[in-house]
Amino acid sequence: PQTPVKVTVTGAAGQIGYALLFRIASGQLLGQGVPVRLSLLEIPQAVKAAEGTAMELDDCAFPLLAGIDISDDPNVAFDGANVGLLVGARPRTKGMERGDLLEANGGIFGPQGKAINDHAADDVRVLVVGNPANTNALIAQAHAPDVPADRFTAMTRLDHNRALSQLAGKLQVAVADVKKMTIWGNHSATQYPDLYHAEVGGKIAAEQVDDSWLRDTFIPTVAKRGAAIIEARGASSAASAANAAIDHVYDWINGTPQGDWTSAAIPSDGSYGVPEGLISSFPVVSNGGAWEIVQGLDIDPFSRERIDASVAELAEEREAVSRLGLL
Ligand code: NDP
Repeated sequence: PQTPVKVTVTGAAGQIGYALLFRIASGQLLGQGVPVRLSLLEIPQAVKAAEGTAMELDDCAFPLLAGIDISDDPNVAFDGANVGLLVGARPRTKGMERGDLLEANGGIFGPQGKAINDHAADDVRVLVVGNPANTNALIAQAHAPDVPADRFTAMTRLDHNRALSQLAGKLQVAVADVKKMTIWGNHSATQYPDLYHAEVGGKIAAEQVDDSWLRDTFIPTVAKRGAAIIEARGASSAASAANAAIDHVYDWINGTPQGDWTSAAIPSDGSYGVPEGLISSFPVVSNGGAWEIVQGLDIDPFSRERIDASVAELAEEREAVSRLGLL
C-alpha cells in the first residue's frame, strides 16, 4: 500500500481549519486514491478543540485518512511533513500597531520555518494562509535555509477565485469560460486583479467590460471582498479560504490545466520588475510539482502602476520585518 502523505495544518482548531480538514481527509487536497495522515498544530489552549475536530474526523470514517496527530510543538507537528498549510496567525487586535503585528507573527512563523527546516520531509511544500500571508511566508522561508526557497508560497488563490466569479457574473458566462486570470502583488487591499490578460471566449476580458467597471467596481470588489463577507456573515470567510488553499496545493502537486494559468504568491526571480526574493503573486503554471511564472506578458501602463504599488507594499513589509530582526 502507498505511504500516506503527511499534511500538517497549523491553527487547526480555527475557522479555516474546520473548513479545511474534512476536505483534506476526503481526498480533495492530494487527489482520490492518495492516503493522507493529518498533523494538527495548535497553541496549547486550543489543543482540546483540535481534539474535538479530530473526533469528528474519526467519525467520518474517511477511507483515505490514515491517522491524525495533534501537537502544540512545531518540531513534532512538522516531523516528516510533505505539505504544510500554515493557517494559524496572530490576528490584529484593537490598538495593535503594524510593527506589533509583524513581530507577533514573526514569533510564530520563524519557529515554524525552523521546524520545517529541521524536521519536514525533503519534498515539503508550504502554503501560508495566515495574514500577512506573503510576509509570514518570507519569515518562515528565512528560517529554513536547507529547504529550497521555492517551496514557500502564500495564498492569493481566493482573490483569484473571487475575480473569476465577479467577471463571470458581469459577463453572464460560466466561471469555467474565464481563463488566464491573474492576481499580482500582495494579498492585501493593494492586490491587482488583472483583466488585460484574462480571456473570456478567447477574447481579452478588459475589452468586454467598461473601463469604469473594471477600475471602480471590479478591482475594489475583489480587493475588499473579505470585508464584505465579514459585514454580511458576521465572521470572516472560512470555507472559501479553505477551498482556495485546496485549489492551490492540488494544482501545485497535480499541475495546472493546459492553456490556462492560476495565481500564487511565490518567491520572485525578478520577473516583471518584482524585486528578487519578495513573495509576490504572479500568473503561474505548475509542472511536475513546481510553480513557474508565466513569462512574456506585455504590461500596459495602468497595470504597471498597480503592480508597482502592491510590490512596493511588499518591499516595505520586508524592510519592516528585516528591521525587527525577523528575517
Ligand atoms: P481563521 O481560521 O479564520 O483564520 C486564520 C488565518 O487565515 C488568519 O490569519 C486570517 O487572516 C487568514 N486568512 C487568510 N486569508 C483569509 C481569507 N481570505 N479569509 C479569512 N481569513 C483569511 O482564524 P481563527 O481565529 O478561527 O483560527 C486561528 C487558529 O489559529 C486558532 O485556533 C488559534 O489558536 C490558532 N493559532 C495557531 C498557531 C499555531 O499553530 N502555532 C499560532 C497562532 C494561532 P485575518 O486575520 O486577516 O482574517
